[in-house]
Amino acid sequence: MSEIEEAVDTGDARVRVAIVGSGPAGSYAAGHLLRHSARALHVDLFERLPTPWGLVRAGVAPDHPKIKSVTRVYEKTAEHARLRLFGNVEFGREITLADLRAHYHAIVYAVGTPVDRALGIPGEDLGRSYAATDFVGWYNGHPDFADHRFDLGGERAVVIGAGNVALDVARMLMLTERELAATDVADHALEVLAQSKVREVVVLARRGPEQAAFTNPELLELADLGEADVVVDPAELALADGIPDPHADTTARRNCEILREYAATPAAGRPRRVVLRFLLSPLAIEGERRCERIVLARNRLVAADDGALRAEPTDERLVIPTHAVFRAIGYTGTPLPDVPFDARRGVIANAGGRVVGPEGVRRGEYVVGWAKRGPSGVIGTNKKDANDTVDRLLEDLGGGRLLDPPAISDAALEAYIRDKQPSVVDYADWGRIDAHEQRLGRESGRPRVKLTRVQELLAAAKRR
Ligand code: NAP
Repeated sequence: MSEIEEAVDTGDARVRVAIVGSGPAGSYAAGHLLRHSARALHVDLFERLPTPWGLVRAGVAPDHPKIKSVTRVYEKTAEHARLRLFGNVEFGREITLADLRAHYHAIVYAVGTPVDRALGIPGEDLGRSYAATDFVGWYNGHPDFADHRFDLGGERAVVIGAGNVALDVARMLMLTERELAATDVADHALEVLAQSKVREVVVLARRGPEQAAFTNPELLELADLGEADVVVDPAELALADGIPDPHADTTARRNCEILREYAATPAAGRPRRVVLRFLLSPLAIEGERRCERIVLARNRLVAADDGALRAEPTDERLVIPTHAVFRAIGYTGTPLPDVPFDARRGVIANAGGRVVGPEGVRRGEYVVGWAKRGPSGVIGTNKKDANDTVDRLLEDLGGGRLLDPPAISDAALEAYIRDKQPSVVDYADWGRIDAHEQRLGRESGRPRVKLTRVQELLAAAKRR
């Protein structure tokens, strides 16, 4: 920075916003803030990992490159002159709430809901009973999961849950080595998945086809699996016939049509199969130290007070022998240090995106995305959600209701953060990681080879 720039960079006129988390919600919040505020508003984007984009990098399935291309929008935002990325800086560790409150007018939490929900059934903790969240992190090369082990040495795997994560897991288990090699799946996962003995994945929905949480394109694309048939028993679909669901929307109705088409299509005799089953709840996972079978109850649908159809177990029991179980029944949040948490909903306590503590609305603290509303919707859902919260923030800015930290120059604030975390990964560093991963990909005929260790990522960040 030149002397002249330094002289004007006193930070006096700056309104500073810290966003914690660089996934879709944090990136959309940053974009909306920068678009709808005056020149004086500056955003610092904090990210725990050395890599940005949250679940787009670590959650979206490797065979969904189109969905991942949304990062181009986030890159544009990150290149904005009034935004800085501070990667490899963890809230509650290198940087605390007190640090942020001392330097920023507002803080926006965009931390997602990172952990799996528990089933609460016996045997859930046996070997080969896996949380889908761990499997997803592992095949996507998230550093926290690089050392996880998945035993795919048996013929059948059962996936519990009827949402898009269950379908992601099912597809990843059914893709062939050739199909996987065309993706950016982590090297360690490619190796294990290529050796997998799993030939059948059974996806279990506890309610009927009309209540499944799949979205239409995801359900349809099962038919594109090169080596797997999709199997649906028409008799099982018919169990829910004649029970009207007042909450069924066009997605639900189209899902039913797609499922009926699958049920009517004879198996093509491919070597692998995805079996979609309905009205079955897991009661126990059983086996000698490791999962060997799953015990299920046949459910029927009953209307709750609000008309929603819920699953009620009948006396009928089924046992499915299985080598492994993947639990894909949704995500939940974990509390951040010093930030109010709504344990019942698994989100940061908030009213319309304004963080709420026991004392009422917390001045200058906001939340967006899954940490605000829970783990629902597709990536684009986070745009409107983030915009709504940012509009509240801008209202509060206009009304003088943000925090009032002393002025500090950009350079002094950066020095403060780098003092707390000397290994900050800024946007230029991320550019070097990104280029390096893509170069490794080109060398091996793949879109990208992900680095999966923090130390490797930090080394690539500094590579000239
Ligand atoms: P989800 O859509 O909420 O689905 C969770 C599933 O688990 C539901 O079918 C639910 O059934 C079932 N479940 C919950 N508790 C259960 C229990 N105790 N026993 C048996 N089943 C149980 O969650 P998700 O699949 O984790 O996805 C999270 C969000 O990310 C969703 O909005 C999803 O669309 C999105 N996503 C999108 C994509 C994509 O666009 N390609 C990919 C992945 C994820 P009930 O309905 O009966 O509760």
